[in-house]
Amino acid sequence: MIRIAIQSKGRLSEDSLALMREAGIKIDEVKRKFLARAAGFPLEVLYLRDDDIPGVVEQGSADLGIVGLNEVEETGAKVRVVRKMGFGACRLSLAIPKEQEYTGPQFFSSKRIATSYPEILSRWLKANNVNAQIQKIMGSVEISPAAGLADAIFDIVSSGGTLVSNGLKEVETVLYSEAVLVARENLEPEKQEILDKMLFRFDAVMESGGKKYILMNIPTAKLEEAVKILPAMRSPTVMPLAADGWCSLHSVVRESELWDKIERLKELGAEGILVLHLDKVID
Ligand code: ATP
Ligand code: MG
Repeated sequence: MIRIAIQSKGRLSEDSLALMREAGIKIDEVKRKFLARAAGFPLEVLYLRDDDIPGVVEQGSADLGIVGLNEVEETGAKVRVVRKMGFGACRLSLAIPKEQEYTGPQFFSSKRIATSYPEILSRWLKANNVNAQIQKIMGSVEISPAAGLADAIFDIVSSGGTLVSNGLKEVETVLYSEAVLVARENLEPEKQEILDKMLFRFDAVMESGGKKYILMNIPTAKLEEAVKILPAMRSPTVMPLAADGWCSLHSVVRESELWDKIERLKELGAEGILVLHLDKVID
């Protein structure tokens, strides 16, 4: 049995649960009890506030956790980052009122900076030899300059829309963050074995993200060129068609490259192109 801590409600909860669901680990999501037992996998889920997750994993009340890298860095918890999870992307940035001219890190010298991340900020200030005053506040950081509470902020940014609507501009990015899977140091071998099984499933789910299964009919004479456009996991699958001079070509492509490849394949004479959802990819 292994115990994982995830955020009880908030930005990472749904994606964390969805990943487990897709990995065939079923948890009762309706009753989010403090501690829940999964079906079909030797796992318990501990629902916590995200701030508490790194510490709980470090001191051993949970073996694993899914939490933003920003929280791991802020708490300084000694845990092992096992995987980047591919969701919850954001950055921790310094922002100042938009009408002010930014002159580099020394801009912050003697300024008051509001933040919920004083540890990460103080490390950055030290590394840049800046003497500033950190004001720790837990909410509404972005309105503090307008309210006269601070001269600048250090906060989470994703699209940047919140900064703009508060008359601020981003001037330094200090940390790029996303949700990570963390593990307690020195996991017992039987727990490590369960973790490895989980990782095998998570990797298959994550690997399928952003990929599509594509199949089409292609003139046999153009097959060689088409295969060059479509390298698959090993190589594309080719099947003869009843119609003479044609075959069916199957492959896996990255979604980001999909339209470009389709255009090139059409130029080669590909017809009846189908693009299908990929559920899992097991290498
Ligand atoms: P809790 O009640 O669990 O303490 P919270 O309010 O501290 O929740 P959320 O706002 O749910 O935290 O954010 C959780 C994590 O999601 C952040 O620590 C960060 O890693 C990530 N995240 C991604 N995008 C954003 C964003 N735009 N704003 C805030 N957090 C974001
Ligand atoms: Mg929190």
